[in-house]
Amino acid sequence: MLYKQNLHTHNHYCDGSGTLEEFVLQAMEFGLDTLGFSCHSYQYFSPVHTISEEDTVKYKAEIAELKKKYEGKIRLLAGLEVDMLSRPDVSGLDYTIGSSHWMKLGDDFVEFDKKIEIFQEILDKYFDGDIWKFLEKYYGELSKLSSHGKFDIVGHFDLVTRHCESEHPFFDRNDKRHLDLAFEAVHTIVKDIRIFEVNVGCFAYGTRNTPYPMPAIIKEIKNAGGAVIITNDAHDPTKLIGGLDRGVEIIKTCGFDEVMIMTDHGFDGMKI
Ligand SMILES: [Zn+2]
Ligand SMILES: [Zn+2]
Repeated sequence: MLYKQNLHTHNHYCDGSGTLEEFVLQAMEFGLDTLGFSCHSYQYFSPVHTISEEDTVKYKAEIAELKKKYEGKIRLLAGLEVDMLSRPDVSGLDYTIGSSHWMKLGDDFVEFDKKIEIFQEILDKYFDGDIWKFLEKYYGELSKLSSHGKFDIVGHFDLVTRHCESEHPFFDRNDKRHLDLAFEAVHTIVKDIRIFEVNVGCFAYGTRNTPYPMPAIIKEIKNAGGAVIITNDAHDPTKLIGGLDRGVEIIKTCGFDEVMIMTDHGFDGMKI
């Protein structure tokens, strides 16, 4: 195994399964040198999938205990995957992933990362059924990511391509209109947040053949001077290493000769 880190993981405190210690033990068995916990952060507008404020305190304390217990055996990191609209308390964390799963549309908070039928309802209700209006809104809002907080990593940048390999793709992700919107957002975001994750959860879970973001966008991140890490959004310990090395191969084909890893001194590049 070449890539021995995973900083995007979910456990029983949010919408994943498995205790923190189960993740640690499984990570060591898999040979990972670094494991980051990244629960969906508390969000004031909806408890769906997320950790509570109360549990966030417990979560941080439990990670601190595990760091002591497993010191010298594996590097453990306290993180959160923060929905950009949620503005949680991020004190005492080693890193944050900034993601977008929700939009504020009028007075409503709407979670758009949904299965086809529900996404279609959202599209009809708020965007007159026009996917391009939705995509403009998504990338426009995502471009403002750094104005919503201090994030170290951009999470699943093109999450809106979720259905693109299904029987109801909604749009062609290779359409120039989509790539133009995405590329513009890359160039804006990279000025403040240099590291984008290449989320290979699709290979761990067998859901799609293409990571987030798609290779054309990974290439553009390279062109824009950005950097990438590989993660896989594991929601249970057994999935912790699924697809990581395949992710390394993909970023190589996109022009990267190094990948970011967490070291004792923060993020650093590793030659691949
Ligand atoms: Zn996410
Ligand atoms: Zn996640």
